[in-house]
Amino acid sequence: MRKFVENKLVIASHNTGKVREIGDLLKPFGVEVISAGALGLEEPDETEDNFIGNAQIKAHFAAKESGMPALSDDSGISVDALGGAPGVYTADWAETPDGRDFPMAMEKVWAELEKVNAPTPRDAQFNCTLCLAWPDGHDEVFEGIVRGQVVWPMRGEHGFGFDPVFLPDGETETFGEMDPAKKHAMSHRADAFAKLVAGCFDD
Ligand code: IMP
Repeated sequence: MRKFVENKLVIASHNTGKVREIGDLLKPFGVEVISAGALGLEEPDETEDNFIGNAQIKAHFAAKESGMPALSDDSGISVDALGGAPGVYTADWAETPDGRDFPMAMEKVWAELEKVNAPTPRDAQFNCTLCLAWPDGHDEVFEGIVRGQVVWPMRGEHGFGFDPVFLPDGETETFGEMDPAKKHAMSHRADAFAKLVAGCFDD
């Protein structure tokens, strides 16, 4: 496994929620992070039907364009009673002509669950795939998961995306209600991140 020995890393995302969380998670390592948006990089099309493929597209694109190592995150929520939807298409469910609307997407998920009369708890998981890519084309990929259930109505103002309707197993607060530090310690992103650190950052 290749170690990360550089001191600058591009976060290959235009999602401000993700960039903030990844920046927080990288703070202890003294790495200078710069987002793809701040570098003026385009967003490549996510043409794969799985998290790993899309994470690789984003990280390799940013690494080649910037000439620096780049870290991408492809993630989403998969609901068991919906056959794993929205899954890799989570962000697409929020698309509107005026940009992404996550309250609307969360309502759509709940409406689909009602339509199929899904039993409770409405089990679900967040997945996170991290890809660290270098400009020479090498990459390392890490996957994380957190299990929980989709609840309604939405609860909490923290986090981003689907956080207000995700109640992790064993918890009483949704990710939207939880202190961000607590989410960072138990989320799908934290799980993938621990693997990234063990593989590429620790000596
Ligand atoms: P993508 O990885 O850019 O395709 O988008 C993934 C989507 O999944 C995001 O836009 C969020 O809606 C959702 N998502 C991923 N991680 C989280 C999280 O930690 N909390 C809430 N929503 C998330």
